[in-house]
Amino acid sequence: MQEIEILYDLVKNYLHFSIFFIIFVCFLCESAFYCFVNIYTFMSISERISGLLSQIESMSAANAEELEALRIKYLSKKGEIAALFSEFRNVPNEQKKEVGAQLNALKDKATERMNCLKDQFEQATQLQDKPDLTRTPDPIALGTRHPLSLVREEIIDIFARIGFVVADGPEVEDDQHVFGMLNFAPEHPARDMQDTFFIEKEQGVQKPTDILLRTHTSSVQTRVMTQQKPPIRVLCPGRVYRNEAISARAHCFFHQIEGLYIDKNVSFADLREVLLYLAKELFGQETKIRLRPSYFPFTEPSAEMDISCNICGGTGCSFCKGTGWVEILGCGMVDPNVLESCGIDSKVYSGYAFGLGVERVTNLKYRVKDLRLFSENDVRFLRQFESC
Ligand SMILES: [Zn+2]
Repeated sequence: MQEIEILYDLVKNYLHFSIFFIIFVCFLCESAFYCFVNIYTFMSISERISGLLSQIESMSAANAEELEALRIKYLSKKGEIAALFSEFRNVPNEQKKEVGAQLNALKDKATERMNCLKDQFEQATQLQDKPDLTRTPDPIALGTRHPLSLVREEIIDIFARIGFVVADGPEVEDDQHVFGMLNFAPEHPARDMQDTFFIEKEQGVQKPTDILLRTHTSSVQTRVMTQQKPPIRVLCPGRVYRNEAISARAHCFFHQIEGLYIDKNVSFADLREVLLYLAKELFGQETKIRLRPSYFPFTEPSAEMDISCNICGGTGCSFCKGTGWVEILGCGMVDPNVLESCGIDSKVYSGYAFGLGVERVTNLKYRVKDLRLFSENDVRFLRQFESC
């Protein structure tokens, strides 16, 4: 019995201690558990935030549908970021500040990335509507210079070296500038040599105000003479029109280059030297010229100029019809009546004028037998001048 009493005392004395000990152990275990839960929750949400952040930074969409799918996945009310916000209440208080900042940064980043992708789509859509000016163009085959342009530029260049400047004027002109001021008397037969196309004309009556297509570029000379004071040294290239039946040797339009020089003491000798210079520059230094008396209403005296045939060298061939000479241009001293009608004192000033057909010179240089080839735009013909 005594042993039982001893055991009872022992239990009685140490029971409250044992209970206290068990409670203490339990408390330790609970703290450790909650601590573990808290650490796990914090680690888990932080890892998921950084995982989502890297997904968002690298996300891309090929079209608007994919972009909308991304928005639903990350930013909608049931999206992954909203889910993290709802788990935020489980985050321990001491970590709420840090996790909250991470969550807000994640949401901002996702919104910014989404807007950026949206802008890219809108810009791409706008660009599709506009032509892309930076695109490399389809290769365009390069053309060649027209033979008439080549010859015109060559003649202008030859005269530019001796001080002639280019003057320009309208192709649709009035009768006064084309005929009246150039000493064509009304109803004079010389007008028949230059029949043209009329734009405005009273039936059966000739008036200085009739509107027509110019028959020569001398109309530019009259305009220059009325607008400038001598000395005048101009070259007038341009297209002219005649009422002609179209054939291999004639056309209803062709091209002329006319020259005009007016100053004190200009003589026929000056004209001859300038024309010899032109012939040698155009056809070679061995070229000879000859002048034959002729008639033009606007020059006195007048002449036709021939050059020695550049095919046979002057010995005679089929091209020069055995004569050794080919006609190239008309020229003469400006008629005093023309000077006076343009307001230039013919007692003080004199001058010369000349005019040549660009087709005629091109024919002599490149042997183009049919005049119509110049205006038919046949590339097989035009390509032959590639090397010129
Ligand atoms: Zn010949």
